[in-house]
Amino acid sequence: MFTDLNDPANQPVRLSLPGLTLAGVSIAGQRTMVYAPDHDVCFDIGLCPAAVLNCPTVAISHGHLDHTNALLYYLWQRHMQHMTPGCVVCPHEIGPAIRRMMDACLELEDRPLPYVLTPLKPDQSTPLNETLTLRAFATRHTVASLGYLVVNTADQKPLLAYTGDTSWGPHFQRPDVRDAQVLVTECTFFESAHRRAALASGHLHLTDIVSLLDLVNARTVVLTHLSRRLPIERARRMLNRVIPARHRDRVRLLSHPTPGEAET
Ligand SMILES: [Zn+2]
Ligand SMILES: [Zn+2]
Repeated sequence: MFTDLNDPANQPVRLSLPGLTLAGVSIAGQRTMVYAPDHDVCFDIGLCPAAVLNCPTVAISHGHLDHTNALLYYLWQRHMQHMTPGCVVCPHEIGPAIRRMMDACLELEDRPLPYVLTPLKPDQSTPLNETLTLRAFATRHTVASLGYLVVNTADQKPLLAYTGDTSWGPHFQRPDVRDAQVLVTECTFFESAHRRAALASGHLHLTDIVSLLDLVNARTVVLTHLSRRLPIERARRMLNRVIPARHRDRVRLLSHPTPGEAET
């Protein structure tokens, strides 16, 4: 798939949150990438804008191509630009498939493309840098999947949780997920007629977000993976209708403004 990185729809949306900046693009079934430059990690890599090449670690939530499409580009460009090999964290079930993809790459390029692969099982961890650790947790999707927490290595404080594609499940009850300062999750379905579709396809529905806001302590909940058929201003109207006033300031959308509308 050709991705035109000059297309405004592929320019990362920047969210400045207290103590954390996120930059990402996320459209269900097309591309999802959520970059946390302060934490040295990019979650999923459905496309790879230039800034993401500086990120040493990519944590993949699951193998669907809207979340993995630009992995090879990321590893290849880091190599071409003489950077350290990209580190790829993934659910342990898909580690062999990524290795096979890299083996095919060796055959195509006739030279090795360096990379570091760290397949994780739920509750396993890997360091991100000297001060931060990435911890995996089980999520529920139609294929093998993981969510990730960025925790402060010294005191184990959970700073950021990222679920990737997921339906409702016990992972939202985990103390570390509930206490993360920022929770990035998905909301693929908004319409009331689509509750069953959300369940069947392993995704969250807007009504789940209402429960989620009562359950978790995050000061900000970022919603990704909106449908490309849902204009953002309509999504905002629906959110304001459904989400109790006391929670409204906590919710941010990682989605593109339609032309003429400024992202806030
Ligand atoms: Zn997806
Ligand atoms: Zn998926």
